[in-house]
Parts: sequence; C-alpha cells; structure tokens
Amino acid sequence: MRKIDLTNFHVATSETARHINRRIALNIVRRFQPLSRAELARRSGLQRSTVSAIVAQLIAEGWVTEGASPVSGRGRRPRFLHLNVERAGIVAVDLRPGTTRVGLAGLDARFLMQTEWPTPATPGEFAAEVARTVASFRDSHPEIVYEGMGVSLPGRIDGAGRLVFAPNLHWEGMDLRQLLEKAVGLPVALENAASACALAELWFGRQADTVRHLVAVTVSEGVGVGLLVNGQVVHGRGAMAGEFGHITLDEDGPTCACGKKGCWEQYASNLAAVRHYKELSRGSSHDPDPADARLGIGDILRLADEGCPHAAAALARLAHYLGVGLASLVIGLAPEVVVVVGEVTAAWDRIGPVVLDTVKRRTLPANTTPIVPTDPATQPRLRGAVTLVVQQHFGAPNVA
Ligand SMILES: [Zn+2]
Repeated sequence: MRKIDLTNFHVATSETARHINRRIALNIVRRFQPLSRAELARRSGLQRSTVSAIVAQLIAEGWVTEGASPVSGRGRRPRFLHLNVERAGIVAVDLRPGTTRVGLAGLDARFLMQTEWPTPATPGEFAAEVARTVASFRDSHPEIVYEGMGVSLPGRIDGAGRLVFAPNLHWEGMDLRQLLEKAVGLPVALENAASACALAELWFGRQADTVRHLVAVTVSEGVGVGLLVNGQVVHGRGAMAGEFGHITLDEDGPTCACGKKGCWEQYASNLAAVRHYKELSRGSSHDPDPADARLGIGDILRLADEGCPHAAAALARLAHYLGVGLASLVIGLAPEVVVVVGEVTAAWDRIGPVVLDTVKRRTLPANTTPIVPTDPATQPRLRGAVTLVVQQHFGAPNVA
C-alpha cells in the first residue's frame, strides 16, 4: 500500500474515474493493438457503452485510429483499433560530454530522423544548437504535431529542472529545462540518462509486463545507475539517488571527476577501459602508442576484436569491476532485472561471462536477478529520452 501524501494529493472529482478509465483503455490499445471495441471491453472490464464513449474521444483527439475491417463472415464486422503512433512527434536528445545526438520519433520510439554534433562548451550554445536541429526537423516534417522534447543527461536533475550533479559535464546549477523550453518552444522533460534508460526498458524493452523493479546501469564516460521501484524512478534526497558510480572502492585509487578517489566508475567506465589498456600495454612495441590521448572505447573494442591481448585484458578488467558493483546492486536491491547499457554491450560475448561470474561469486544463492545487455542498435539512451515524453501521455494518473 502507498501512504497518502497529504502534501501532494488530488481529491477525486467527477472527471477522475473517466480520466483513469481513459488512460487504462489507451494503454490496453497500445499493448494489445489491433483490437476491437469488444476485446477492449473484455480486457478492461468496462461497459461496452463506456468503451464506445472513450474510444470516440480517443479517436477525436487523434490518439487512436480505426483500421480497416478484417475480412470475415457475414454480419457487422468489428473495426480494429490501433494506436496512432504519428499522433505526437517527440524530439529526443541524448546529451553526452563529447557528443550530443538528437532524434525525432513517434509514440512507438521509432526514429524518423536523427543527427549528432559535438557537444558545445556552454549550455547557451547547446540550447542554440538543439533549436537549430529542431528547426531542421520541422522543415523536413512540417506535417508532424510536435508534442515535446525529452533529454537524457549525464547528471542528476532536481525537481525544478536544474542540473545538480554532472561531474563529467560541469554545467551544475543551470536551469536547463527553462533554457531549452525558451530556445525550442516545446515542453521539455529532463532525466538522468540511466534513469531514462530504465524507463525505456519498462515502456519499450523486452521485459515481461509484470516487471516493476528494474535497475539500468549505463557504462559511458562514467557509470550511471537508474532505479525503478514499483515502476517509478527513485530520485532520493537532492535528486541524488543512483550515484553508485561514486561509491568508493579504494580510497587510494585513481582520482575521479567528482573529486574523490577510487570510485566504482574509475574501474568500470569507458574511460577506465582506456586507462586499463594504457597500463597493460605500457612498454609493448606492436600496439598503438598507449599515450595517445584520442584513444576511446571504440578503439579498445576494435583492438580486442583484432586480437590485441592488452585490449582484451583491459575489457576483462572492466568486466570484473562492473561485476563487483553489480553484485552490490543485486544484493542490496534484489531487482527483478538489471539491464546494462553502453558501447561495451557490443562485446557482451567477451565481457558478459566475466561480469556474470564475478556477480555469482559475490552474491547469495537466493539472488537470481538476471543481468542482461541492451542492444546498442535500439539506441537505449535516445529511446530513454523519447520515453520521458511518452510516459506523460500514458503513465498512471496521479490520484490520492
Ligand atoms: Zn567519483
């Protein structure tokens, strides 16, 4: 049970039941389309007349379309209902310290267009670049109703839309929501990238419908964790929940962007993989210069594929430390599933066994949480940004 929050409640009005039933009907159409009104009535338990009224409203507002009648026997043929995925154009932004990717998607999180550019140094330049990109989307697709913009960020966002913790980006204190809404002219939803990825997994992932407790771990410049409990993102005090990446593993370890030493992300992030590689290949003759500042995770993955033993060892070291942190998450939270996001998932054949073996050795026999990689082709971070807008139209109404 949930305790009623007397600082933030909504009393029921004559509209409340209709609003809830409408949301349930819309979600049933989304999940089970194509379906008839009769099936919608059966699945929802609503009266046929109520279903007809709700469907008429959803069609009038453009959320649902009526498809052609299936060819069947004689008599009145039911017309099938579909979610109108083109109802809303959603701009998705995946902001990372080096590169920003922007996409235009429908309600099904399929991308019609996308582009990327180097992330500018200041929030003002960033907002201007986003506005230019959205203008180009509007030029290419003037027929689309632009509903909103979602942004995945390498940091935490407080309730007011301000960036509160972004050690790999350094735009703390910026009111990014206001800045972007002003620049683009759309409502903007912001969320930590790992939390957005967790939501995307809930709304668009391959998990069972019953999954409500889910953890997403993003391996990128740092290591981010997004927590879903009862299907909702946990934000915590000061919006700081999920910063497992900055749990200290070794007080004498490498200095972290957060100012401390030996944080988990110093051992299990993309930047850590590059450092592992440089340490392991120091002094060897046939490898590329390990001091090369431009080396990135893509190079390490490629070198490992080409048979470089130092790159393979660097990935194995990352995998071991990824497992060390994941074991703590599994023991402490017992989520129904943990999903891993990031470039390294492309090498899951290589790193997965090391990760899973480490987790197994460090957890309890009763800990059976599956740890699964996401498919990089689905662009989890960008899809997460889409989900931030989708959930506003499909999420449970906030009542009592
Ligand atoms: Zn740190």
